Amino acid sequence: MSRFWTDKIASLDPYVPGEQPQDKKYIKLNTNESPYSPSPKALQAMAAEVNESLRLYPDPNCVSLKKSLAQQYQLETNQVFVGNGSDEVLALAFMGYFAAGKPLAFADITYSFYKVYAGLYGIEPKLIPLNDTFDIVARDYQDLDVSGVVVTNPNAPTGKALPLADIEVILQANPDVVVLVDEAYVDFGAQSAVGLVNQYPNLLVVQTMSKSRALAGIRVGYAFGHADLIEGLERLKNSFNSYPIDRIALAGATAAVEDTAYLQEICEKTIATREFTVKALNRLGYELLPSATNFVFATHPSKSAEQIYLSLKEQGILVRYFGNKPRIGEYLRITIGTDKEMQALISALQTL
Ligand code: PMP
Repeated sequence: MSRFWTDKIASLDPYVPGEQPQDKKYIKLNTNESPYSPSPKALQAMAAEVNESLRLYPDPNCVSLKKSLAQQYQLETNQVFVGNGSDEVLALAFMGYFAAGKPLAFADITYSFYKVYAGLYGIEPKLIPLNDTFDIVARDYQDLDVSGVVVTNPNAPTGKALPLADIEVILQANPDVVVLVDEAYVDFGAQSAVGLVNQYPNLLVVQTMSKSRALAGIRVGYAFGHADLIEGLERLKNSFNSYPIDRIALAGATAAVEDTAYLQEICEKTIATREFTVKALNRLGYELLPSATNFVFATHPSKSAEQIYLSLKEQGILVRYFGNKPRIGEYLRITIGTDKEMQALISALQTL
């Protein structure tokens, strides 16, 4: 607290990322990073970019990256926006499209940053409860008087995916506001709404390089939507920071988007490891929600989530525990690492 803080600063309730402790080397299964290296082609492209050209500003419009993304997802370049991680894309979208005086609809259990952005921009959240099986129910998103809708597909931290038909129900029920579909984990097994962009002018699909493309460290996220929606985001971005993507990130992200074979290879590995992990955890008595992501959401009928979390931490394994959150306090979110890391997790859980 400082006497220089405005009421605005004092009122904020900032996002708390998963812990990144520096005291020892942990097996990190708490922040949904990829256990695999980024594409070797991306690493090469970034290394090549470390040269005298760094004295120059990067391309403020990120044209090379937008072109690659547009080509990959069969859209026009002006239907693509890129930002410094999808968090920045979300921050701009909330500021631009949802701060319109009405509440913003999103699930009661979902990515906790949405509430933080809502607080930052003075948006009132209209929380739509997941049902008893932790599913988003599309018909609950009808007849809302809201400034917009955010749907996370697959949802986090539950890991559950929503069929595309349900996304369409939500889009059709809310034609006069932006429906943002956050697809941070979509490559691990859900249906993307990208193919609906030309059909629904109110659809904004947000994705990231941080998960399936193993590039959390360079901070690149992107959005697909109608050219007018994208232009709105560009206007905001250029009123805030014209160069959010640095030269190295731009080179790495572009090469990563073009290396589709590598994306497929590491996603398949993660999915195979997830399936083996699910079976092993089931055998140990854990109950898991079906996951379409690079993490599982697990609870044990008789063991406390807090005890499991603490004991794993003591054994050098970090998972995400949501102790203070309603409905999910007895659940742990466990990122899918390598086979070896998941074996270590299972061995550690066997000792409990
Ligand atoms: N959306 C969801 C649902 C997430 O879980 C995350 C990762 N914490 C993000 C967006 C943001 O990812 P990034 O900023 O790394 O692109």
